[in-house]
Amino acid sequence: THFGFKTVDKDQKASMVAEVFHSVAAKYDIMNDMMSMGIHRLWKRFTIDSAGARAGHKVLDLAGGTGDLTAKFSRLVGPTGQVVLADINQSMLEVGRDKLRNLGVVGNVEFVQANAEELPFADNTFDIITIAFGLRNVTDKDKALASMYRVLKPGGRLLVLEFSKPTQDWLSKVYDLYSFKVLPQMGKLIANDAESYQYLAESIRMHPDQDTLKSMMEAVGFEQTTYHNLTGGIVALHKGFKF
Ligand code: SAM
Repeated sequence: THFGFKTVDKDQKASMVAEVFHSVAAKYDIMNDMMSMGIHRLWKRFTIDSAGARAGHKVLDLAGGTGDLTAKFSRLVGPTGQVVLADINQSMLEVGRDKLRNLGVVGNVEFVQANAEELPFADNTFDIITIAFGLRNVTDKDKALASMYRVLKPGGRLLVLEFSKPTQDWLSKVYDLYSFKVLPQMGKLIANDAESYQYLAESIRMHPDQDTLKSMMEAVGFEQTTYHNLTGGIVALHKGFKF
């Protein structure tokens, strides 16, 4: 399979993404820890701290995968709240469901197989929506952002945690070397799957930078949009409100 997707069409991208996450699902968590050297936990912690989740809130953890954010939200919203983990990929959902069950995260969590571009929820449903390391995999990002806006309640907020553009040139170079040389090698050694990790590196490089993503959010209606660079802009947390 060839994962360079500059030349591929929409359907091809969607099926590549499906293939990648199907093949990485079982080893997803351990790979995340190894590839980010555990730092993804800090990025996620910062996201939770910025979400303002309270008891009784309804939260959508979109592209939720193996449920790291869902587990944390589940505790914060309590028995009167609800967390919906939505993901397009059956394999990722299964790994997530098993993991959360083992962690004792049950009761207020629901699992839904859904495409971010066409969310199967009523207008004005959620107080908070998060999408962590998910948006770059979505084919039509504008459509997905508009869909998130629609299902968010007035007063609700969207948090997009995603790879972004390092703010320093030297960091950019080190990071490129790491993601294009080291990551696929690690993928090969640990998961016997260099291609999937090559895809991930490419998808990171192609993703819109901080200001572009901010404008995309504003274009579909989000207000008071801001972003916060993490780890020198390797990752950014974007926030926007619906009023
Ligand atoms: N949010 C989790 C985390 O931070 O660990 C998982 C992130 S994982 C890198 C990306 C997830 O996005 C995968 O589980 C994948 O199946 C999901 N995904 C990709 N395209 C999607 C789409 N169009 N709609 C919903 N989920 C999607």
